[in-house]
Amino acid sequence: MYQGKGRCACAGVTVGKILHIITPVTSTSEAAVTYTQDKDQELQLLEQALEQSRQELDALIDKAQAELGAEQAEIFEIHRMMLDDPDICDNIRDTIQNELLTVSCAALKVGEQQAAEFAQLDDDYMKARAADIKDVTARIARNARGEKSLVLTENVVLVADDLQPSQTVALDRSKILGILLRHGTQNSHASILARTMNIPLIINAQLPISLNERSEGAPAADADSVCDLSGHTVALNAVDGTFYIDPDAETTQRIQAVQAEFAAARARQEKLKGQPAISKHGHRIMTFANIGQVDDVEQVLANDAEGIGLFRSEFLYLGRSTPPTEEEQFKAYAKVASTMNGKLVIIRTLDIGADKKVDYFDLPHEENPALGLRALRLCLFMPEIFKTQLRAIFRAAARGNIAMMFPMVTRLKEVERVLKICDEVEAELKANQVEYKRPKIGIMIETPAAAILSRSLAEHVDFFSIGTNDLNQYTTACDRQNENLADYSDPHHEAVIELLRIIAQNAHAAGIPVGICGELAADPELTDTFIEMGFDELSVSPGAVLALRERICNSEAQCLNPCPAALDKLQAH
Ligand code: PEP
Ligand code: MG
Repeated sequence: MYQGKGRCACAGVTVGKILHIITPVTSTSEAAVTYTQDKDQELQLLEQALEQSRQELDALIDKAQAELGAEQAEIFEIHRMMLDDPDICDNIRDTIQNELLTVSCAALKVGEQQAAEFAQLDDDYMKARAADIKDVTARIARNARGEKSLVLTENVVLVADDLQPSQTVALDRSKILGILLRHGTQNSHASILARTMNIPLIINAQLPISLNERSEGAPAADADSVCDLSGHTVALNAVDGTFYIDPDAETTQRIQAVQAEFAAARARQEKLKGQPAISKHGHRIMTFANIGQVDDVEQVLANDAEGIGLFRSEFLYLGRSTPPTEEEQFKAYAKVASTMNGKLVIIRTLDIGADKKVDYFDLPHEENPALGLRALRLCLFMPEIFKTQLRAIFRAAARGNIAMMFPMVTRLKEVERVLKICDEVEAELKANQVEYKRPKIGIMIETPAAAILSRSLAEHVDFFSIGTNDLNQYTTACDRQNENLADYSDPHHEAVIELLRIIAQNAHAAGIPVGICGELAADPELTDTFIEMGFDELSVSPGAVLALRERICNSEAQCLNPCPAALDKLQAH
């Protein structure tokens, strides 16, 4: 038995068989150059790899269309077309013929060459195709090498270095019992997805170099390669962050007992569906959920959240090669709002930058991206991209109960600029007789500057939602992506707690609702504190909604900052 440790990114307990996903090789520099002595055989192998790639992409297109909508499927349709593009396929054939390279090497080489040519074009759309070409040629190479595809035929615990967006979309989530990642952070795409789907997840896991080592041997977290764990059993305790590979009978029993406790708590919490969250002394808190993609709404409704407190709209922009059009966004927002059937949906405008990057914006390199051109700053830097999103939100707001909020605000001047842009968008829509509704407009309080200025900011917006993930990183000067700051990065840091109190007081002094949508909202040790501070709304991952509701209902804490008018405004949105 090997025992390892990591950090919990989605609580849960599971025991299952491992599927170890080895990070795909995507460039020739990562793969040894290999030659063939039989080019005819190699050309035949190429045709097989192309055919397999076509079949995989056809299946991916169907899956993306069914689960994410036609627009999201478009990226895979482009990949499918590239497979029949003679510029790519004939080039690979010629490279095999002339240079006697294996299919895998020839495909990666052609991918790199063509991607480099596309990257130099003036047209932004064509430039953005570079990443697609590399993705397609990597798929051909992988199939030629006969590597396992990620089709899940049985329930598994996934083990990987990290997960890519295209891998994540391709997976059948119902077959994933748990996830164990060597890297990753609490707020990476994989972590957010796992929480949304309620899949137990451990990140920064210390995986073994070899299972022959004694279990107390040195962990391999820093090693370049870890052994392939596929087929081994893992007992995953994503409550205390421990995991056991090939667990002995006693460990399996112990983990299964924790798993049963989890299931019992869940059954108890199910009974709170349809009930409001009201503390013993009568403080009402709306229990909302966070989402990143349109189909996450299913989980929101399944867990009886009363609204969506944070729709991370940037996920519509990730894992593709061009920004989503106004129409695509409009459809996505309108679909979420109509599925929520009158319950409030708060869309957070684009928060790209720092850890969330998209190649197609082609932004300058930054030494400190978390302190750079991210979120609202980036939107103000690219006003046309921003306006496209605002138009989509205004139009969708005519179809459902939508509010919007801006991330990374630091001062009033930014809010004034952004409200002016909203006025311009509204005037254009009106002039063009497009159906729209101006949504309620809030801001995220996630910088110390905005927290300190929250008294005056509250006079200019309809609501506050606190992003504690960023508020913590900027207040305590602890990079949220840095895996080595565990001793310094304290989610309960006194300075952050004090700022929460100040923000809630200032919001209520101005009579506006205040909520928390960062990870801290789900922290069981702070539910009483949030009631005392008078929060009106807490937004957590869908799977955490009912546990939060249970804690609020059982809480004896007294609200010291009541503001019935603020709650009324939230409910009347
Ligand atoms: C936050 O910062 O707390 C937040 C909710 O936003 P994100 O995690 O997406 O930056
Ligand atoms: Mg944030």
